[in-house]
Amino acid sequence: MQPMHQIPARGGLNYDEAPFLAIWEITQSCDLACKHCRAAAQPIAHPDQLTTEEGKALIDQIADMHVPIFVFTGGDPLKRQDIYELIRYACSKDVKVAVTPSATPLLTREAIFKMKEAGAVRLGISLDGSCPEIHDNFRGLPGAWARLLASHGAKRVGMEADAIPHGLWTKLVEAAPDVELVPADGWVEAMRAVKTRDEVERIAAACAVADRALAALLPEIRPGVTEHDLALRLEMLMRTGGAECLAFDVACLAGPEAALPHGSPGDRPVLDGAVLLFDFGAQVAGYRSDMTRTLFVGEPNARDLGVYETVARSQQAAIDALTAAVRDGVAMPDGKSVDAIARELIARDGRWPAYGHGLGHGIGLATHEEPRLSRSAPETRLPSPTVFSVEPGIYLEGEMGVRIEDLVHLDAAAGVCDLLTLFPRDVIVVGGAAS
Ligand code: SF4
Repeated sequence: MQPMHQIPARGGLNYDEAPFLAIWEITQSCDLACKHCRAAAQPIAHPDQLTTEEGKALIDQIADMHVPIFVFTGGDPLKRQDIYELIRYACSKDVKVAVTPSATPLLTREAIFKMKEAGAVRLGISLDGSCPEIHDNFRGLPGAWARLLASHGAKRVGMEADAIPHGLWTKLVEAAPDVELVPADGWVEAMRAVKTRDEVERIAAACAVADRALAALLPEIRPGVTEHDLALRLEMLMRTGGAECLAFDVACLAGPEAALPHGSPGDRPVLDGAVLLFDFGAQVAGYRSDMTRTLFVGEPNARDLGVYETVARSQQAAIDALTAAVRDGVAMPDGKSVDAIARELIARDGRWPAYGHGLGHGIGLATHEEPRLSRSAPETRLPSPTVFSVEPGIYLEGEMGVRIEDLVHLDAAAGVCDLLTLFPRDVIVVGGAAS
């Protein structure tokens, strides 16, 4: 058996030492009366509220921590006269500020533009519940939903038509008759396919949790232990290792079961001489990872080793093509052509059939997002910056299967094509009789 793999530290932020974000409840004062309010909000500011100068001293401390984003919340931040001064001060210290105002008459279009001019980079406004009645009841103020839209001048609002039931659409139209609802098919998906630096960092953090969990599991793999036991143990290692939840149920598939790309773990014992496939992911700060490794329990036979090496070369061919595209500054390839590169390598080898699924998928808040890399992917250039999986496989029905899956971060403007999954892709032999 190979020695325990060390997962190297990542560049950029160290999430073991610095938080993703810091939140300042900047005031207790708010004109709403939400049922869930834990701030014991009241219309008048608390006498012990931090002064402007004390607030600036707090911002200085946050600036020293290099926190990616600093949220001004409340109460209602707009109840503070000095809110714009505090935003400006934080921005002067290179602190990225987000503000979460309450939907009251203070939230005007002018107020929103003033926050933007002061330097706020994000604005969070809550819509609570599936219809205006629920929102208004929840927030304790009739008409709050309609005011929320009208307050920042919304005349046309794009809605995810595929995700909103017709009954809810009708209620929204009735609640704000002056606002036109527009079906926005694919808009959100296209925006989510392009990732900010913060999003990439979060996906990388989720990858690191998964990397460490599998590294910790390796010494526990031995013949006789069941797929179900190993899946459960891997879940435990992710949950205790920094995951807020799983990205999806762990797949642990031994021997012939590894030939099923969508199989589930069972009470089947791991056998010496068989492959063992793990497909799993963690979620950290709302963002997900997805990786697959196929291990060998005991020394592999020549056929299984050949299958593994062919899949590894197929994956590397796709990654090499992506790397060349960003390095040479040529046009970004489309998802269909990248899939074809990986698929053709297996076809040229000629010994085994290529995978029937797609080569990869985008990932972020959901496990499967745009872009798609597959035979049916559109012939449009991949977005950038973006993150997607590259996961070719070979499946020999009733015998064995191999899939290798890593997440790739692509940023054409920066000339970057990085693997976010850092767990080794070498042939790994675990706890068999031969190890
Ligand atoms: S908007 Fe926030 S602070 Fe105001 S009452 Fe509601 S939960 Fe409390």
